[in-house]
Amino acid sequence: MIWYPYEQMKTMKKPYEIKKAQGVYLYTEDQKLIDSVSSWWCMIHGYNHPELNEAMKQQIDRFSHVMLGGLTHEPVRKLSDKLAEWLPGDLDYCFFSDSGSVAVEVALKMALQYFMNRGETGRTMILSLEHAYHGDTFKTMEAGDDEDYHFVLNAYGKSPYVVHIPTEIERLEEAFDTYHDRLNCLIVEPLLQGAGGMRMYDVSFLRRARELCDQYGVLLIFDEVATGFGRTGNRFVADLVLPDILVLGKALTGGYIGHAVTVSNKKVFDGFYDDVPEHSLMHGPTFMGNAVACSVALKGIEIFERENYMEKIRRIEEISKREMLGFTEEGIREVRVMGGCTCVEVEDAGILKGYQQFAYESGVFSRPFLNYMYSMVPYIITEEELVKVFDTMKAWFHRV
Ligand SMILES: *Cc1c(COP(=O)(O)O)cnc(C)c1O
Repeated sequence: MIWYPYEQMKTMKKPYEIKKAQGVYLYTEDQKLIDSVSSWWCMIHGYNHPELNEAMKQQIDRFSHVMLGGLTHEPVRKLSDKLAEWLPGDLDYCFFSDSGSVAVEVALKMALQYFMNRGETGRTMILSLEHAYHGDTFKTMEAGDDEDYHFVLNAYGKSPYVVHIPTEIERLEEAFDTYHDRLNCLIVEPLLQGAGGMRMYDVSFLRRARELCDQYGVLLIFDEVATGFGRTGNRFVADLVLPDILVLGKALTGGYIGHAVTVSNKKVFDGFYDDVPEHSLMHGPTFMGNAVACSVALKGIEIFERENYMEKIRRIEEISKREMLGFTEEGIREVRVMGGCTCVEVEDAGILKGYQQFAYESGVFSRPFLNYMYSMVPYIITEEELVKVFDTMKAWFHRV
């Protein structure tokens, strides 16, 4: 049987069975649903996109996969060239992997080994944020900070290798004061913390983080697995503040197939580039640089640029603000909007109990968690469809 994610299998309600998906719509036997969460935030071009389908089919007819151990191919070369050209600064060195969690693991390993390669073996610590989410593998759980997901780590007691701080500049400065010579990196989900509750914070925090990292020689890692490809209203937050290592996943392949990339700048790459074999980055996921994944990623980026997605996202943000900012009802703590993300935070998780089924019956697929009702819509959504998503949210508070 299927073991579902984040579910108590004994009490879970039956999942909706999808028969067909097209554009922003999911189809069950009896319902047509706007997918307001883009299948965990990755389906930015919508479902069943003819050009993305075609890109994959064409590559499958050439070959689906060859390993990158001793072999290479055009799709992976083209994608790394494209990313190097497209991403800001000298974020030019692309290490591929099969999921966001693994790509974050790679980033954390890179940061640790960067200093070990220089003989700085005391830099074993990571600075990260409260409410951070960086994935579900062990080191990413440790860098993350979410009791609701990762309480299993309590089995080990508190890790001496990670310090978590809130997104306050004063606390950032304090942490650097105390730990600067033991830190190898600061890792953040920039501007928007997703799974930790759609928490939004100001770019001034990131600017100060960049200064402090420069001052103390600490590497700055942006986990843009969720925020990349326009979700915050910026193409990448890295366009505003340049990290040393950038992690992309989710929307990288337009949600078609699992793939992710850890992109480093020249400084980090050069920390591995010498005559010592032991200074190599010892990592190599079986499916890294998968040819089908790279082909669909390239096509996705082409569409993102050609169809001016940043303009679409600006429109989504505008409509979201118009429809949702200032919306208040009993039990709502805060409504916040950033780019293609809208969140209604409620006082008590119980308030959202039953919302998913309510939304289903209204023709919207939603997946609230804890105290958060949110939308992260596909960018191809029309105004009418987007308004329907918000009307459904509002109707939940107006029922009875
Ligand atoms: C989803 C997510 C991950 C993990 O990606 P997977 O592909 O699910 O392993 C890591 N970091 C952030 C910020 C994410 O939102």
